[in-house]
Amino acid sequence: MYTSPRGTQDRIGQDLTVLRFIEKQARQIFKKYNYNEISTPIIEEEKLFMRSLGKTTEVVKKQMLTIKKSGETLVLRPEATAGVIRAYLENNLDKCGEFTKLFYIGQMYRGERPQKGRLREFYQFGVEAIGSSSPFIDAEVIALASQILDNINVCGYRIIINTLGCLNDKDKFAQILKKILSTKIKIFCPDCKRRIKENVFRVLDCKNETCKEAVRNLNINRKDYLCNDCQNHYESVKDNLKQIDIGFEEDICLVRGLDYYTKTVFEIKHASLGSQDTLGAGGRYDNLVQELGGKPTAAVGFAFGIERVILVSDIAEKIKDQEEKLRVFIACLGDNALKCGFKLLQNLRKNNINAEADLRQSSLKSQMRQANKLNARFVIIIGDNELEKGTVVLKNMASGEQKEIKKEELIGAIC
Ligand code: AMP
Repeated sequence: MYTSPRGTQDRIGQDLTVLRFIEKQARQIFKKYNYNEISTPIIEEEKLFMRSLGKTTEVVKKQMLTIKKSGETLVLRPEATAGVIRAYLENNLDKCGEFTKLFYIGQMYRGERPQKGRLREFYQFGVEAIGSSSPFIDAEVIALASQILDNINVCGYRIIINTLGCLNDKDKFAQILKKILSTKIKIFCPDCKRRIKENVFRVLDCKNETCKEAVRNLNINRKDYLCNDCQNHYESVKDNLKQIDIGFEEDICLVRGLDYYTKTVFEIKHASLGSQDTLGAGGRYDNLVQELGGKPTAAVGFAFGIERVILVSDIAEKIKDQEEKLRVFIACLGDNALKCGFKLLQNLRKNNINAEADLRQSSLKSQMRQANKLNARFVIIIGDNELEKGTVVLKNMASGEQKEIKKEELIGAIC
């Protein structure tokens, strides 16, 4: 027996309906905020991610699924931002307008050790707002994320924000952290000992309890590393969020796992998710466009993991009730009735009526059982009698009422 690769899942029936429902809701909100959809390839060149995410990040070091082919090294995209910015530049969107708002929905791949909320293939929806450093955009992007969650009935999420400052500030922040953490290096796990030297911010996301405790007790102030501009930017983002009644918390230890972030970073968390409690995350990446070959262009975005959103939403229950029922089931008795029913079935579908019939010549009892299972609103019964008279029997499944009507009157009676 073959099984799907670890950390991947087949989606059938209700699972797929829920996924598509969330995609649809997200798409509607993206449109309300005037974002246009972009679709980029699932495979990208490995070097794109090395350059954008950073060679020492966990994603690049440990999680990329690589395909080597004819001298090329490709990877299954672990996230979308790098590919979107590559596409933005390659398709000259930077030359079309000053400000570009893009959204995407699709699969991402990371070679993770699978666990609840941590998959190897997972879906993300996300946005990239490219071409503005305005702190209103940071707030708008966070508001957009929050509105999607509200629309799909996710309650009890927390928005946590921080700022890393510009590249200079970020460097200063890293130096301060390095200095403080080096004095206690002995207490950290082997990975963090390496991270303190290689990429000190990663120490702040370590899941090891001792490391977490040491990080909780850090005494750092944003004023120690932020320049005036970045301090003002951060204050404006917070003011803008307050203006539109978006509640948030601040956490100086929130630094995000990818190197391209500068200034605002944020995460949206949900306590019920356990250790993988981040539903979505994002922030500014004001240097990435230039890093990938464009002109200096400020940008901000986020990505949400749809599987995690599904885990905290009661939408699966809600859409069960909203699902469109089958309008008509046609039950046929005998060969000739089946021929007539087959024609009628096609006719109903051409009239945009969702209809089904059992084309295998089963007993009436079995056909009625199927109609019930499919939750059909009406059953049409055709037998020899009806064939002769050019009529059908129409049964309303909710009321149980049954009447014989002419075939020509059928569509009117069931619409
Ligand atoms: P990131 O791209 O790492 O900033 O992650 C953004 C969001 O994607 C996270 O908050 C998760 O909801 C989701 N995500 C990231 N990695 C995984 C994974 N391995 N499995 C499921 N969801 C993930």
